[in-house]
Amino acid sequence: MTTVRAAARSTALSLTIMATSAAFSLAAPAWASNPGEKNKASSEMSIPSPVAGSGGEVNIYSYREPGLIAPLIEAFAKKTGIKANVVYAKDGLTERISAEGANSPADVLLSVDIGRLTEAKDKGISQPIVSKEVEEEIPAAYRDPDGAWVGLSQRARVVYASKDRVKQDTITYEELADPKWKGKICMRSGQHTYNIGLLASIIAHEGAEKAAKWAEAVKNNLARKPAGGDRDQVKAIYSGECDIAVGNTYYMAAMETSDKPEQREWAKSVKLLFPNAADRGTHVNISGAVLAKHAPHKEQGLKLIDFLASHEGQMIYAEQVNEYPLDKDVPISKQVQAWGEMKPDTLPLTEVAKNRKQASEIMDKVGFDQGPGA
Ligand code: FE
Repeated sequence: MTTVRAAARSTALSLTIMATSAAFSLAAPAWASNPGEKNKASSEMSIPSPVAGSGGEVNIYSYREPGLIAPLIEAFAKKTGIKANVVYAKDGLTERISAEGANSPADVLLSVDIGRLTEAKDKGISQPIVSKEVEEEIPAAYRDPDGAWVGLSQRARVVYASKDRVKQDTITYEELADPKWKGKICMRSGQHTYNIGLLASIIAHEGAEKAAKWAEAVKNNLARKPAGGDRDQVKAIYSGECDIAVGNTYYMAAMETSDKPEQREWAKSVKLLFPNAADRGTHVNISGAVLAKHAPHKEQGLKLIDFLASHEGQMIYAEQVNEYPLDKDVPISKQVQAWGEMKPDTLPLTEVAKNRKQASEIMDKVGFDQGPGA
């Protein structure tokens, strides 16, 4: 097991993050029963120490990658003296909290995607977040009306295009269905929450029938069977396997600043295009937080959410995670600014959430994940 002590540098506090692999596949923590875990791409955390931090501790279940979340949790621990224990997993955390029931050690669920946030509410694993800080910093459009979740950052789903092989500098999502891209597009699984969100937005704008035709046409334009994450698609452009990919914005920043030289090369081989800049705007989604229904450290959990929503927390989302902050007083980072202006699709996220099930069924029906020619 590889142990990464992300915050061992900081004062008397220790944030312990443990991960066995890049996929965060770990055994269940000793303190957490894990009956509902479906997905083996699971996680881990430190066993809460009997000697807590001076401000107590907080248990976080996170769908967000360790590298993206570490700077936030580190700053929180430094500021409050609250020790953060983190479980990471790509899938299954909501189910896990649900299965753990009243004995769940989870205080806060950090998640990406409106779908996962509304799912937490629907599954009854949340309790209302009552916080002045959150209300002041985060616009109402990015909060559940009942306080079941709060958005903390925004990202856009953009097109990555080969600098060498793609001449155009503007694009629309609709255009990805054009046969001119046959054999030239790379995308991760159609069932991934990011692509489901995108298709759900197309359903909202164009209706289910057109959305299904779009998904089928894009599938037929794929260069290969969907596999890997967003970064892997950019890698495939670099290696010449495809010319166009779809991915989230912050991955560009992560590649540009990566300590892995090959990732910096992948980033250099592409330009980032904001689809539909001339009409409805680019599809955006949020990351956010849920306060767990049975949070054993509710006070600390609320303090964490307050911190993430605060000016200081939002600065970290902007500067270190390179997302779009939801606090409008916080500027986007220079790195993000360099990609040009992002005009977000103003479709309410609740509309996206509503169409997710149908989007998933369409992806299935068109056999998106079987790839081209299937
Ligand atoms: Fe992501």
